[in-house]
Amino acid sequence: MTRVYLDNNATTRVDSRVVEKMLPYFADAFGNASSTHLFGEEVSTAVREARRSVQALVGAAHDHEIVFTSGGTESDNAAILAGLAATEGRDEIVTSAVEHPAILSLIEHLRDKQGVKVHVIGVDEHGRLDIDAYRAALGPKTAIVSMMWANNETGTLFPVASLAEIAHEAGALFHTDAVQAVGKTPIDVKSTKIDFLSLSAHKLHGPKGVGALYVRKGTKFSPLIRGGHQERTRRGGTENTPGIVGLGMAAEIARVGLDEEAVQIGALRDRLESRILKEIGHCRVSGDLESRLPNTANIAFFDIEGEAVLTNLNRAGIAASTGSACTAGSNEPSHVLKAMNVPAQALQGAVRFSLSRDNSEADVDRVMEVLPGVVAKLREMAQTVTETQPALT
Ligand code: PLP
Repeated sequence: MTRVYLDNNATTRVDSRVVEKMLPYFADAFGNASSTHLFGEEVSTAVREARRSVQALVGAAHDHEIVFTSGGTESDNAAILAGLAATEGRDEIVTSAVEHPAILSLIEHLRDKQGVKVHVIGVDEHGRLDIDAYRAALGPKTAIVSMMWANNETGTLFPVASLAEIAHEAGALFHTDAVQAVGKTPIDVKSTKIDFLSLSAHKLHGPKGVGALYVRKGTKFSPLIRGGHQERTRRGGTENTPGIVGLGMAAEIARVGLDEEAVQIGALRDRLESRILKEIGHCRVSGDLESRLPNTANIAFFDIEGEAVLTNLNRAGIAASTGSACTAGSNEPSHVLKAMNVPAQALQGAVRFSLSRDNSEADVDRVMEVLPGVVAKLREMAQTVTETQPALT
């Protein structure tokens, strides 16, 4: 069976060039990057090179502003906690209702267990942040703001550069979860007021379990993981050198190909989306159509369950998702779509298709061979159920 993978916001296939680059760092170059002998030196040189590649991808002014971590979740946790610890007399957090659980569950924990005051800012029906509410929530008590660069479910982009300016005007630090944005949309942190930025290798064809946190030079930083002096004492623990080398290579490939890939992937996504709207109908696209990642299409199929669509697609060898892989199987409607007030008849029917450089027109064509029949069958079943239900008295 031909397999089609359209769940690249959950994770991406590791690029073969990345695998090749990583391989020597498992056995031949196995040294500890902190060791001062030749075995350590060859590895620390590779880590330095990887740091520079990540620096270049996000446009950081200095390579030491990049701290390697175990991935997006750790970077998010580290940033929020560092932000709270850095700002004396300020103990409030401002975030959005559509953040990833890596932010929202930490913030809920801080609110419930430590009494931290949290302001959660809503979005409109397109997923755009309520800027007036954002401004109103900021004040002399705000320690840190955390606003994602790109939404993992809809691809909607927040105007993070201007949100960071606004946060700084209020004297607060600004973190952005850019896990879905890095490698898909141009980023130049040095031209912004962003203090912290999270990224993760496995979303950009790198390995799982490695990521980075950008920490602007001069920002007070208290580590989440304490231990040895690795990462300039900002993240203890022996470096995951194969992973870091893999992230560096993935970052380099992403940086070089970014513009071209954005156009190619965007054209494929648009082809898929327009065919679905035209050939299936009675569905709509969720997200900000004016400002979106090029690879993400979140489509709400009215009157049917997204989970049922996915099960049927899966049987035909096609992988997509209803939303975040971290909430998959929970059966709860997406908190992102709920925050966007997506109408009830569409809320349960959401399916996220997320593409990458690995996809082709043949993948889109294959989906369109299968999907119209799946949706028609499910709608027919839903119709039969409605007709056979006893009338309410
Ligand atoms: N933030 C966003 C927006 C994500 O999409 C994800 C992964 O799904 C994460 C954070 C977590 O990243 P990681 O899987 O590297 O911990």
